[in-house]
Amino acid sequence: MEKTISHKSSRFADYLKPGQVVELKSPEKVAAVEELLGVLAKQKLIANKKVLLTRVIDRENLESTAIGHGVALPHARVDTGGEIAIAVGRSGKGIDFDAIDGEKVHLVILVIWNPSIPGLFNHLFAGLARYLIRPEFRRRIFDAPDKTALYAVLSEIDLVLPHEEKIVHRAGLLKKLQEIEMKKRKAAKDQVKALQKNADILREELDESLLTRFDRLIERYGFAVADAVDGVCQGCNINISTQMYSAIEGSNDIYVCENCGKFLVSVRKKKK
Ligand SMILES: [Zn+2]
Repeated sequence: MEKTISHKSSRFADYLKPGQVVELKSPEKVAAVEELLGVLAKQKLIANKKVLLTRVIDRENLESTAIGHGVALPHARVDTGGEIAIAVGRSGKGIDFDAIDGEKVHLVILVIWNPSIPGLFNHLFAGLARYLIRPEFRRRIFDAPDKTALYAVLSEIDLVLPHEEKIVHRAGLLKKLQEIEMKKRKAAKDQVKALQKNADILREELDESLLTRFDRLIERYGFAVADAVDGVCQGCNINISTQMYSAIEGSNDIYVCENCGKFLVSVRKKKK
Protein backbone atom coordinates (compact mmCIF):
# COMPACT_ATOMS: atom_id res chain seq x y z
CA MET A 1 0.00 0.00 0.00
CA GLU A 2 1.22 3.48 -0.88
CA LYS A 3 1.57 5.78 2.04
CA THR A 4 -0.81 8.71 1.81
CA ILE A 5 0.84 12.08 1.75
CA SER A 6 -0.71 15.13 3.28
CA HIS A 7 0.80 17.25 0.49
CA LYS A 8 -0.86 15.42 -2.39
CA SER A 9 -0.59 18.41 -4.64
CA SER A 10 1.58 21.41 -3.96
CA ARG A 11 4.03 23.71 -5.66
CA PHE A 12 7.79 23.87 -5.25
CA ALA A 13 7.42 27.59 -4.52
CA ASP A 14 5.39 26.69 -1.40
CA TYR A 15 8.73 25.66 0.10
CA LEU A 16 10.98 28.16 -1.63
CA LYS A 17 11.12 31.90 -1.11
CA PRO A 18 13.15 34.20 -3.44
CA GLY A 19 15.76 34.69 -0.68
CA GLN A 20 16.51 30.96 -0.77
CA VAL A 21 17.84 31.12 -4.35
CA VAL A 22 21.47 32.17 -4.87
CA GLU A 23 24.34 32.21 -7.35
CA LEU A 24 26.97 29.94 -5.81
CA LYS A 25 30.48 31.29 -5.29
CA SER A 26 32.02 28.00 -4.15
CA PRO A 27 33.65 25.89 -6.86
CA GLU A 28 33.68 22.76 -4.66
CA LYS A 29 30.98 20.39 -3.31
CA VAL A 30 31.40 20.71 0.47
CA ALA A 31 31.86 24.48 0.31
CA ALA A 32 28.78 24.81 -1.93
CA VAL A 33 26.63 22.84 0.53
CA GLU A 34 27.99 25.00 3.34
CA GLU A 35 27.12 28.13 1.36
CA LEU A 36 23.53 26.92 0.91
CA LEU A 37 23.26 26.01 4.60
CA GLY A 38 24.36 29.59 5.27
CA VAL A 39 21.38 30.78 3.22
CA LEU A 40 19.02 28.65 5.33
CA ALA A 41 20.61 29.85 8.56
CA LYS A 42 20.23 33.48 7.45
CA GLN A 43 16.54 32.84 6.76
CA LYS A 44 16.31 31.26 10.25
CA LEU A 45 15.13 27.97 8.75
CA ILE A 46 17.88 25.94 10.43
CA ALA A 47 19.79 26.28 13.68
CA ASN A 48 22.92 24.12 13.68
CA LYS A 49 24.80 24.61 10.44
CA LYS A 50 27.82 22.55 11.46
CA VAL A 51 25.83 19.43 12.42
CA LEU A 52 23.76 19.68 9.24
CA LEU A 53 26.86 19.99 7.04
CA THR A 54 28.18 16.72 8.48
CA ARG A 55 24.84 15.01 7.93
CA VAL A 56 24.49 16.17 4.33
CA ILE A 57 28.07 15.20 3.43
CA ASP A 58 27.77 11.79 5.17
CA ARG A 59 24.70 11.12 3.07
CA GLU A 60 26.44 12.41 -0.06
CA ASN A 61 29.34 10.02 0.52
CA LEU A 62 26.99 7.02 0.67
CA GLU A 63 25.60 7.69 -2.80
CA SER A 64 26.00 10.82 -4.90
CA THR A 65 22.79 12.86 -5.04
CA ALA A 66 23.72 14.21 -8.48
CA ILE A 67 20.89 12.95 -10.68
CA GLY A 68 22.65 13.72 -13.95
CA HIS A 69 22.36 16.52 -16.53
CA GLY A 70 24.03 19.03 -14.22
CA VAL A 71 21.64 18.75 -11.27
CA ALA A 72 22.27 17.58 -7.68
CA LEU A 73 19.87 17.24 -4.74
CA PRO A 74 21.98 16.95 -1.58
CA HIS A 75 19.83 16.34 1.47
CA ALA A 76 19.55 15.24 5.08
CA ARG A 77 16.71 14.10 7.27
CA VAL A 78 16.88 16.25 10.39
CA ASP A 79 14.19 17.69 12.60
CA THR A 80 14.46 21.44 12.06
CA GLY A 81 11.18 22.30 13.73
CA GLY A 82 9.57 23.13 10.39
CA GLU A 83 8.58 20.58 7.77
CA ILE A 84 11.20 21.20 5.13
CA ALA A 85 13.95 23.72 4.37
CA ILE A 86 15.17 24.23 0.82
CA ALA A 87 17.90 26.36 -0.74
CA VAL A 88 18.79 26.46 -4.42
CA GLY A 89 22.18 27.45 -5.79
CA ARG A 90 23.25 27.91 -9.38
CA SER A 91 26.86 27.58 -10.50
CA GLY A 92 28.03 28.92 -13.84
CA LYS A 93 31.37 27.10 -13.73
CA GLY A 94 29.93 23.85 -12.41
CA ILE A 95 30.84 21.72 -9.39
CA ASP A 96 32.13 18.14 -9.29
CA PHE A 97 29.50 16.02 -7.50
CA ASP A 98 30.65 12.58 -8.70
CA ALA A 99 27.57 12.54 -10.93
CA ILE A 100 26.33 9.36 -12.55
CA ASP A 101 26.95 10.83 -16.01
CA GLY A 102 30.27 12.44 -15.03
CA GLU A 103 28.92 15.92 -15.79
CA LYS A 104 29.59 18.90 -13.56
CA VAL A 105 26.66 20.18 -11.53
CA HIS A 106 25.22 23.62 -12.30
CA LEU A 107 22.12 23.46 -10.12
CA VAL A 108 22.24 22.38 -6.48
CA ILE A 109 18.98 21.94 -4.60
CA LEU A 110 19.65 21.43 -0.89
CA VAL A 111 16.81 19.83 1.05
CA ILE A 112 16.63 19.47 4.84
CA TRP A 113 13.48 17.58 5.67
CA ASN A 114 11.68 16.66 8.83
CA PRO A 115 11.53 12.96 9.73
CA SER A 116 7.97 13.30 11.04
CA ILE A 117 6.69 13.77 7.47
CA PRO A 118 7.96 10.60 5.75
CA GLY A 119 6.27 10.94 2.37
CA LEU A 120 7.28 14.53 1.75
CA PHE A 121 10.79 13.92 0.47
CA ASN A 122 9.72 11.32 -2.11
CA HIS A 123 6.94 13.61 -3.19
CA LEU A 124 9.38 16.49 -3.63
CA PHE A 125 12.04 14.36 -5.27
CA ALA A 126 9.66 12.81 -7.79
CA GLY A 127 8.13 16.18 -8.60
CA LEU A 128 11.51 17.86 -9.14
CA ALA A 129 12.87 14.98 -11.22
CA ARG A 130 9.81 15.09 -13.47
CA TYR A 131 10.66 18.68 -14.43
CA LEU A 132 14.44 18.53 -14.34
CA ILE A 133 14.53 15.53 -16.66
CA ARG A 134 13.29 17.81 -19.46
CA PRO A 135 16.19 19.41 -21.40
CA GLU A 136 14.24 22.56 -22.30
CA PHE A 137 13.32 23.13 -18.65
CA ARG A 138 16.95 22.75 -17.52
CA ARG A 139 18.05 25.12 -20.27
CA ARG A 140 15.67 27.79 -18.98
CA ILE A 141 17.10 27.30 -15.47
CA PHE A 142 20.72 27.50 -16.60
CA ASP A 143 20.02 30.43 -18.98
CA ALA A 144 17.87 32.56 -16.66
CA PRO A 145 19.54 36.02 -16.75
CA ASP A 146 19.32 36.69 -13.00
CA LYS A 147 18.09 35.34 -9.65
CA THR A 148 14.61 36.77 -10.10
CA ALA A 149 14.21 35.06 -13.47
CA LEU A 150 15.65 31.85 -12.04
CA TYR A 151 13.15 31.93 -9.19
CA ALA A 152 10.31 32.47 -11.66
CA VAL A 153 11.29 29.33 -13.61
CA LEU A 154 11.61 27.26 -10.42
CA SER A 155 8.18 28.47 -9.32
CA GLU A 156 6.61 26.69 -12.28
CA ILE A 157 7.41 23.30 -10.75
CA ASP A 158 4.38 21.60 -9.30
CA LEU A 159 4.74 18.57 -7.11
CA VAL A 160 1.88 16.31 -8.12
CA LEU A 161 3.13 12.74 -7.80
CA PRO A 162 3.92 11.29 -11.20
CA HIS A 163 1.93 8.22 -12.14
CA GLU A 164 4.63 6.32 -13.89
CA GLU A 165 5.57 2.68 -13.77
CA LYS A 166 9.21 3.47 -13.44
CA ILE A 167 10.59 5.07 -10.35
CA VAL A 168 12.74 7.99 -11.37
CA HIS A 169 16.38 8.25 -10.38
CA ARG A 170 16.31 5.75 -7.50
CA ALA A 171 18.01 2.68 -8.96
CA GLY A 172 21.49 3.58 -7.69
CA LEU A 173 20.09 4.08 -4.21
CA LEU A 174 18.40 0.68 -4.19
CA LYS A 175 21.57 -1.00 -5.41
CA LYS A 176 23.62 0.74 -2.74
CA LEU A 177 21.15 -0.45 -0.10
CA GLN A 178 21.55 -3.99 -1.33
CA GLU A 179 25.35 -3.69 -1.11
CA ILE A 180 25.06 -2.59 2.50
CA GLU A 181 22.56 -5.34 3.38
CA MET A 182 24.92 -7.94 1.90
CA LYS A 183 27.93 -6.56 3.75
CA LYS A 184 25.88 -6.61 6.95
CA ARG A 185 25.32 -10.35 6.66
CA LYS A 186 29.03 -11.08 6.53
CA ALA A 187 30.17 -8.31 8.86
CA ALA A 188 31.73 -8.70 12.29
CA LYS A 189 29.53 -7.74 15.23
CA ASP A 190 31.19 -4.37 15.81
CA GLN A 191 30.67 -3.34 12.19
CA VAL A 192 26.98 -4.22 11.95
CA LYS A 193 25.85 -1.13 13.82
CA ALA A 194 27.59 1.29 11.45
CA LEU A 195 26.29 -0.57 8.41
CA GLN A 196 22.76 -0.55 9.84
CA LYS A 197 23.00 3.21 10.34
CA ASN A 198 23.90 3.70 6.67
CA ALA A 199 21.13 1.32 5.57
CA ASP A 200 18.62 3.30 7.65
CA ILE A 201 19.67 6.59 6.05
CA LEU A 202 18.93 5.15 2.60
CA ARG A 203 15.72 3.40 3.70
CA GLU A 204 14.29 6.68 4.94
CA GLU A 205 14.36 7.95 1.37
CA LEU A 206 12.61 5.07 -0.32
CA ASP A 207 8.88 4.44 -0.49
CA GLU A 208 7.47 1.83 1.83
CA SER A 209 6.00 -0.21 -1.01
CA LEU A 210 9.41 -0.36 -2.67
CA LEU A 211 11.11 -1.46 0.54
CA THR A 212 8.50 -4.15 1.25
CA ARG A 213 9.17 -5.63 -2.15
CA PHE A 214 12.92 -5.26 -1.69
CA ASP A 215 12.88 -7.10 1.67
CA ARG A 216 10.65 -9.86 0.30
CA LEU A 217 13.03 -10.45 -2.60
CA ILE A 218 16.10 -10.46 -0.32
CA GLU A 219 14.42 -12.97 1.96
CA ARG A 220 13.47 -15.23 -0.92
CA TYR A 221 16.50 -15.04 -3.24
CA GLY A 222 19.24 -13.47 -1.14
CA PHE A 223 19.21 -10.40 -3.36
CA ALA A 224 16.66 -8.01 -4.83
CA VAL A 225 18.47 -5.89 -7.39
CA ALA A 226 19.85 -7.45 -10.56
CA ASP A 227 22.06 -5.89 -13.22
CA ALA A 228 20.80 -5.70 -16.76
CA VAL A 229 23.73 -6.61 -19.01
CA ASP A 230 23.56 -6.93 -22.82
CA GLY A 231 19.80 -7.31 -22.70
CA VAL A 232 19.85 -10.09 -20.10
CA CYS A 233 18.63 -9.96 -16.49
CA GLN A 234 21.55 -11.21 -14.37
CA GLY A 235 19.07 -12.34 -11.73
CA CYS A 236 17.43 -15.03 -13.86
CA ASN A 237 19.47 -15.08 -17.11
CA ILE A 238 16.40 -14.41 -19.22
CA ASN A 239 16.31 -11.83 -22.02
CA ILE A 240 14.62 -8.56 -21.21
CA SER A 241 12.31 -7.12 -23.85
CA THR A 242 14.25 -4.91 -26.27
CA GLN A 243 12.01 -1.98 -25.43
CA MET A 244 12.62 -2.25 -21.70
CA TYR A 245 16.35 -2.82 -22.10
CA SER A 246 16.81 0.30 -24.19
CA ALA A 247 14.93 2.26 -21.53
CA ILE A 248 17.09 0.83 -18.71
CA GLU A 249 20.42 1.29 -20.45
CA GLY A 250 22.24 4.30 -19.08
CA SER A 251 19.30 5.23 -16.86
CA ASN A 252 19.05 5.47 -13.07
CA ASP A 253 15.36 4.58 -13.04
CA ILE A 254 14.04 1.43 -11.41
CA TYR A 255 12.43 -1.28 -13.56
CA VAL A 256 11.20 -4.72 -12.60
CA CYS A 257 12.18 -7.91 -14.50
CA GLU A 258 9.03 -9.34 -16.06
CA ASN A 259 10.37 -12.85 -15.52
CA CYS A 260 11.82 -13.00 -11.99
CA GLY A 261 10.38 -9.83 -10.48
CA LYS A 262 13.72 -8.44 -9.30
CA PHE A 263 14.59 -4.79 -9.64
CA LEU A 264 16.63 -4.21 -12.76
CA VAL A 265 19.34 -1.60 -12.92
CA SER A 266 21.71 -0.51 -15.62
CA VAL A 267 25.34 -1.11 -14.69
CA ARG A 268 26.84 2.23 -13.77
CA LYS A 269 29.67 3.22 -16.01
CA LYS A 270 32.35 5.03 -14.05
CA LYS A 271 33.75 7.95 -15.98
CA LYS A 272 37.01 8.59 -14.21
ZN1 LIG B 1 15.01 -11.60 -14.08
